[in-house]
Amino acid sequence: MYFVARLIGKTIAFLSPLLRRGGGTSAPGVALLRLHPKAFSKLSDSLDRGSVLISATNGKTTTTRFLSDILANAGVACVSNTSGANLKSGVATALLTKEQHHEMGVLEVDEAALPEIVEENRPRMLILMNLFRDQLDRYGELESIAKRWREMVLALHPNTKLLVNADDPVLATIGLQRPGTIFFGLGDASSYSRDKLQHASDSSNCPQCSAPLSYEHLTLSHMGDWRCESCSLARPQLDFAVSRIRLDGLNGSDFTINSESGLHEISSKMPGLHNVYNALAAFSAASDLGIDQEGIVSSISKTVAAFGRTEKISINDRELHILLAKNPAGANANIDTLLLQPGPLHLCVLLNDRIADGRDVSWIWDVDYERVLNKVETLHVGGERSYDLALRFLYGGFDKEKIEVADSIPKLLDSLISSTSENSKLFVLPSYTAMLDLRDELVKRNVTHAFWKDGK
Ligand SMILES: [Zn+2]
Repeated sequence: MYFVARLIGKTIAFLSPLLRRGGGTSAPGVALLRLHPKAFSKLSDSLDRGSVLISATNGKTTTTRFLSDILANAGVACVSNTSGANLKSGVATALLTKEQHHEMGVLEVDEAALPEIVEENRPRMLILMNLFRDQLDRYGELESIAKRWREMVLALHPNTKLLVNADDPVLATIGLQRPGTIFFGLGDASSYSRDKLQHASDSSNCPQCSAPLSYEHLTLSHMGDWRCESCSLARPQLDFAVSRIRLDGLNGSDFTINSESGLHEISSKMPGLHNVYNALAAFSAASDLGIDQEGIVSSISKTVAAFGRTEKISINDRELHILLAKNPAGANANIDTLLLQPGPLHLCVLLNDRIADGRDVSWIWDVDYERVLNKVETLHVGGERSYDLALRFLYGGFDKEKIEVADSIPKLLDSLISSTSENSKLFVLPSYTAMLDLRDELVKRNVTHAFWKDGK
């Protein structure tokens, strides 16, 4: 029965791209799991060297990419869900369509789907990156996921290695429950520290006693070098620590990773402090998997972003930069990156409210757009909730006459091009499905390729 179910799943996997159903990233897994509920465990067991599972609100796609590149460059053949299909069906599809020579899985997993997948996959390594309040549910979702992760970690198989971002107080506390947890974080981020918590901050209270946390430095949202003065819970000792960070706008960043084996100078093409965390997680994981550290450093320097995350596309002699922004923490990280760009800026924000974006779009009020607005020369808003964005920017103090509302993606692109000169840089911050719509139009205009042809 399992054999037949697997065959049907594989047939759908073969047909889906031909039918243009999103590259066949989930449908085969859905079919397989319906036909054979135990298929997931069986597929997981088919990998000789097991799986590494990566979960986070933000950064799981990029970290997966960093790590699978490192392993591939070290000669370890890995299967990965590079298309970002990270629910159980998407992970099952990746495992189902793996090639014969694949010996390890490097898989990104949705936060809510993680406990069930961990139970059935029994990974060799689990990486917990961050939990930011997501746009999907502003009321209690974060706490409920944290609680389920806590239980999941307590029930982990003793052979599973656990890697945790120590800068996230909730995750660090979860990691501290288990002996042998490997912690990573930003050791010296003083030059990028914030004076106060951004108002999008999610958990600035002690996970143990609820007293407000104090910070030696803050990095992104609620993350940083934290401690509780009341119960003395504090950020754990870092096994892998980043220091000497130099962010170079959209060009990337240079930083140093300090580990037991010494100092490693890294130069990455991936912009922003959030990507420093992603590279650090991949470095820590690969080191623990026994990959040669010089090889890791060299691989990290070559990795470029997955489609739509931070992507540069040339169109009509302009540089279009797509910076996916699907929740307040992600959008604020992008604004940090834009602040490092020389002005004036051409900014475009796109917002949809489909299920994959989150139906509730009020999260845009938690994004600190104000910080960048005085550098903005042209401002376009688009997507199905363009008027919510227009209102947001109006309240942010942007000149009403200068807010361009586009009612379709083609019109938006035309307007972006006609209102800027050649060689301009155009920065687009789309929500998830708005990014897919934008890319569809860019594919139609022949300036980029479809995401399932995303080469590595
Ligand atoms: Zn406390």
